[in-house]
Amino acid sequence: MVFNNTAFSVPYLLPGEKAEISLVYGKGKTGAKLENLLDKSPDRVEPVCPMYGRCGGCNLMHLNYEAQLRFKQQVAENAVAEAIGGKGGKMPEIAPMLGMDGEALYYRNKIHSTFGREKGQPTLGLYQEFTHRVVPVKDCAIEQNAVIAIRKTILRFVKERGITIYNEDSGRGIMRHLMFRVARDGGIMVVLVVGQNVFPEKRVLAETIAAKHPEVRTVVLNFNLKKTTMVLGNREETLYGSGYLEDRIGDCVFRLSPRSFYQVNLPQMEKLYQKAVEFAALKPGDTAIDAYCGIGTITLLLAKSQPAADVTGVELNADAVEDAGVNAKRNRLANAQFTCADAGEYLKGMAAAGKNLSVLVMDPPRSGSSEDFLKACLTLKPERIVYVSCNPDTFARDAKRLAKQYRIEKVQPVDMFPQTDHVETVVLMSRVSK
Ligand code: SAH
Repeated sequence: MVFNNTAFSVPYLLPGEKAEISLVYGKGKTGAKLENLLDKSPDRVEPVCPMYGRCGGCNLMHLNYEAQLRFKQQVAENAVAEAIGGKGGKMPEIAPMLGMDGEALYYRNKIHSTFGREKGQPTLGLYQEFTHRVVPVKDCAIEQNAVIAIRKTILRFVKERGITIYNEDSGRGIMRHLMFRVARDGGIMVVLVVGQNVFPEKRVLAETIAAKHPEVRTVVLNFNLKKTTMVLGNREETLYGSGYLEDRIGDCVFRLSPRSFYQVNLPQMEKLYQKAVEFAALKPGDTAIDAYCGIGTITLLLAKSQPAADVTGVELNADAVEDAGVNAKRNRLANAQFTCADAGEYLKGMAAAGKNLSVLVMDPPRSGSSEDFLKACLTLKPERIVYVSCNPDTFARDAKRLAKQYRIEKVQPVDMFPQTDHVETVVLMSRVSK
């Protein structure tokens, strides 16, 4: 919407709709609010979640799934156009986004709830968008609902034993957050995040959870004593099981720690990885880097795709690197190794040592890659770069930097986060200059 020569984006308003809007004057910034919808888009649907618009987790649930995919396809195409814009080049092949089969709900395998209080009673929910108020959430439409019963058990235990709830302002109280991860076989990891070093009932709670819910493979206690919006602190104690969760991708088994990154949508993750491996097209004798490799998922699938290639995964999180090493051994992939390092530093070192690199796979966090990384990449000159991106803006920025030497060959968007506006893309870039 444009008003007084200023463009406003109106949350929840769809293209082609007519509505009454109010302007909300905030600190230095004016926003727009949808007041009354006059003409509806044919793509508009009733959101399936009663919390929609309040919890802030989803923002496309009022759009039918087909239209969500069309919208995100456009976002991916715009990012590619932006990346090649400076050269006035020809648009590469952009495949239609791979959407989720079925209803595109209840897919998240990482589930997080925060402890709060409602009318003096402990409750579990989510922070309301832009606030620190915990709104109770019983059932979320994008999370796997296998954890609902476990959450109830924990909340009942907390209430019955009178265990205190952490208070952000005073720093007092014990129970802070819960985090769950669900594996494909239904196995569950429970992480209890506490705000104090001492939690006398920890063993009884873990035993109660394990006895009632046989699908729980491990219960981990995480200590987060700091005033922070981060969910997990950096000290842990395993209360039940091994402290890890195991999952399968193809015929590889992966172990993951509570603090390691793992994709949240399993069926879509498989489609994404398949494309990444296909785009990398490793040949015998190739040397490949999988930068920002997490627990080594893509690294090991690459190593498996070409046993006569050598693949190194680079990752900053020490827990994830340890998981990755164990995963390589368990899957008997001797042509994969891992290094705990900043990806930019590592590549810079390789470039300075004049090392050879055939293929670079990169899957950076939302902030994208670093200048060091991209510069080293232009020195190392791999034949192909496979860029897995979860943020079209930083992808466009980074790809522009590589455009002198690399041409975008193929683009495959994959819908990893239905009902939200997050866009994931796998891009193949080939070297054009010597
Ligand atoms: N490819 C993996 C992980 C992708 S998420 C997968 O598909 O599972 C991005 C990863 O980059 C995270 O594991 C994060 O810990 C790691 N990371 C973030 N900054 C980094 C840096 N500067 N150097 C290396 N790894 C980094």
